[in-house]
Amino acid sequence: MDCPPNPLPDLANMFLFQDVHRDSLSDLLDQCEHTALEGGDVLLAPGTRNHNLYLVLAGKLGVHLDDVDNPAVTHLLPGQCVGEMSLIDEQDTSAYVVAAEPSRLLTISRDTLWLLIERSHTLARNLLAILTGRVRQGNELIVRGMEREKILSAHANQDPLTGLQNRRSLMANLAGMVERARQGGGLLSLVMIDVDHFKKYNDTHGHPAGDAALQAVAVTLNSHLRGHDIAARYGGEEFVVLLPDTTVAAARKTAERLREAVAATAIRQEGQPLPGVTASFGLAHLEAPQDGDALLATADAALYRAKLAGRNCVTE
Ligand code: GH3
Ligand code: MG
Ligand code: MG
Repeated sequence: MDCPPNPLPDLANMFLFQDVHRDSLSDLLDQCEHTALEGGDVLLAPGTRNHNLYLVLAGKLGVHLDDVDNPAVTHLLPGQCVGEMSLIDEQDTSAYVVAAEPSRLLTISRDTLWLLIERSHTLARNLLAILTGRVRQGNELIVRGMEREKILSAHANQDPLTGLQNRRSLMANLAGMVERARQGGGLLSLVMIDVDHFKKYNDTHGHPAGDAALQAVAVTLNSHLRGHDIAARYGGEEFVVLLPDTTVAAARKTAERLREAVAATAIRQEGQPLPGVTASFGLAHLEAPQDGDALLATADAALYRAKLAGRNCVTE
């Protein structure tokens, strides 16, 4: 990998040497070796010690996280440095640095780097600026990763058709609300909602019309709730609404309001009006020994009675 030192290219264009009086450093720089890499050669790998700062003189290097086959998170071009962090903190290298094309590097050993720093404050300042840039780049990668994670977790919790919380997210919220209600002696009501004769609606108007109806019902439910209430799609044409910190009387009123609002919801498909739908509502209030599943089962039993009672009604 080492090759005989060629005459140094003009270092003035290299950030590390910007504004540096190089005459006083030329004896040290003349001692530095040059490293030649073929495309694909690995210069640094995680878990290994690095003893040099490399200055890219020609070519291009890729920085790869975790796996050498992952796409490069950044590229290093002529004038840029690599290896300065692991050289200074004497820790293992944290990423793969691989030649993306034939490249030539100036290899500055640790001892030489400390001598260069002793002789030139300007070079020390440039090196600090390079290190700061690396920290900033690392922070940006972390923030981008966190944003990606946020998006992924939002998708994992959301029903794609209606945009409401999905069943998985509902169950997590329900467990938390039951726990809080139990600890604080608070109140919690749960409404289970099932669209009436929805199979017939699909059969008559088509599945896309059914989808439009479910979306419209979801908007109606969501828009009639307070900020800390939760509406979720439980599955198929079934929805669940959680009403924390709500008295039994207020929960009854809310359920009835939701029933009327669903029955009054206008449904459109591609601009064309469709017949409306109704839904049946089963209402349950958390009793002391119940967990979330028991509360759901009570609401489900109430919903069954609402269907038997003729649908489009609220039953407890
Ligand atoms: P009931 O009044 O007793 O609830 O009768 P129902 O027809 O609503 O009940 P059933 O369980 O027999 O049928 C539910 C229908 O809901 C059948 C299914 O095709 C439809 N469905 C479930 N999920 C979706 C969906 O995402 N989109 C559409 N368009 N239809 C759905
Ligand atoms: Mg159903
Ligand atoms: Mg139904």
